[in-house]
Amino acid sequence: MRGKMLWAAAIIAGVICAACFLYWDRNILLGKEEKALAWEQEAENRRLFPHPDSTWYDMELTLDAASGIIYGHTFLTTRNTSGKALKELWFTAYPNAFKDKKRTPAPREAYYAGFDEGWLKVEKIRVNGITSVFVEKDVNILVILLEEMQEGEDIKIEMEWKAKVPKASYRYGYKEGVFMLSYFYPMLNVLSEKGWHKGANYPWGEPFCLPTANYRVKITVPAPYEVVATGKEIGTIMRKGQNKEYHLEGRNIRDFCLAALVGYQKIEGRNRIADIKVWAPKERAFWAKEVLTEASSILLFYSAVFCSYPYDDFKIVFVPMQGFEGMEYSGLIFLQERFLQPGFADNKKAVFILAHEIAHQWWYNLVGNDQMAEPWLDEGLADFSAYKYMTGVRGEKALDRLQGTVNLGKGLKDMASRKDYYQTAYYGGEAFFAGLEEMLGEEMVYNILRSYLAHYKYDIASREDLFYIIEMESGKKLDAYFASWFKE
Ligand SMILES: [Zn+2]
Repeated sequence: MRGKMLWAAAIIAGVICAACFLYWDRNILLGKEEKALAWEQEAENRRLFPHPDSTWYDMELTLDAASGIIYGHTFLTTRNTSGKALKELWFTAYPNAFKDKKRTPAPREAYYAGFDEGWLKVEKIRVNGITSVFVEKDVNILVILLEEMQEGEDIKIEMEWKAKVPKASYRYGYKEGVFMLSYFYPMLNVLSEKGWHKGANYPWGEPFCLPTANYRVKITVPAPYEVVATGKEIGTIMRKGQNKEYHLEGRNIRDFCLAALVGYQKIEGRNRIADIKVWAPKERAFWAKEVLTEASSILLFYSAVFCSYPYDDFKIVFVPMQGFEGMEYSGLIFLQERFLQPGFADNKKAVFILAHEIAHQWWYNLVGNDQMAEPWLDEGLADFSAYKYMTGVRGEKALDRLQGTVNLGKGLKDMASRKDYYQTAYYGGEAFFAGLEEMLGEEMVYNILRSYLAHYKYDIASREDLFYIIEMESGKKLDAYFASWFKE
């Protein structure tokens, strides 16, 4: 009798436990579904301007290598997708950061021939056929619209401009037959519910919030120069007078970067994801083969754990750049040429930087963010991804991690020094994701990142968006963890 009662009690307890478990599990699932639905509703009201589906840059460029001046004609078509009437447009004109010796972001040692100014001058702007008034404001250009542009209205902007490239070994600069042309053209800024995300001038980081757009570019350079750029090369034509004309096209591009090179050699390879091309100074090109092999392995890893790499080719250019060890652009990266040495694959630091820059193809390029206001979002993820590659694929020992937390709420304007910038955005950002992995496990963190990509591909995400995805995918409330990283 006693035995039977015990059995009955055990069965009842089991049924209650199972019911509780199912209820609890269902609750989590319901929470996830509801959250996904709420996200979709919010996404319908979400506005992004300029929008990648309706934004094309058609640019005709001529590089006068002797004077270091690029003559540009931009025909930009877009649509007012901001959800409100537009009275003005804001563009970033980054070359204007290099006008003044005291304010240039390039370090002093980059000016190998003494200070040399850089600038961007807009000569004429027409919006929908009407000549517009514009005002230069530091590294931005304000275009005042004579007529308000309503939601859904097409906008056609025509610009005549020229940009002077400084003699400086910098990401925007020229040295010994190498033009490094980052952010060299007038770039239409993002307008979100937070307002215009204008460009700025800081000596570290990327002081921009770049929207995704499509590009068709024709560039004429003196014949000895080879052009390496974002997007696909459609064709090249030799013109009279020893000039070469390149036709390039790229879709879903975060920003258009180009390099014009003399004395370089291209090393090519292919894996099942992309054509991989490395440009290296001729006399050191032999060592680039190892770089190509490593880049191929990194691209395969990220494509497997995050999502497919979005372009047909991936380009690496070794450049005489100071101030940055590497720089990321859509489908293209710059690396400091000092990394081009025998035994690249044994140089852990060089491989980590390569893995970091390639990871930006997912974090900054596919999922964009305001790199000035929230630099930790892309830098932290790029470092975390590189860390996963180093330990997971190469079997390296775990690297030293930042202990404790930092204030990830700091934007570039709040960073006291370059050290502060790295400590916050890179090491702090990486530690945020590592902490998440400790709590949720590797597979859940990958799920979260895949979901983040699926929801915000070609968009601009904020930390609130990321937190939403983390809680939605994990089914956990993580307010306390998030709060420990933000001291406001
Ligand atoms: Zn980075």
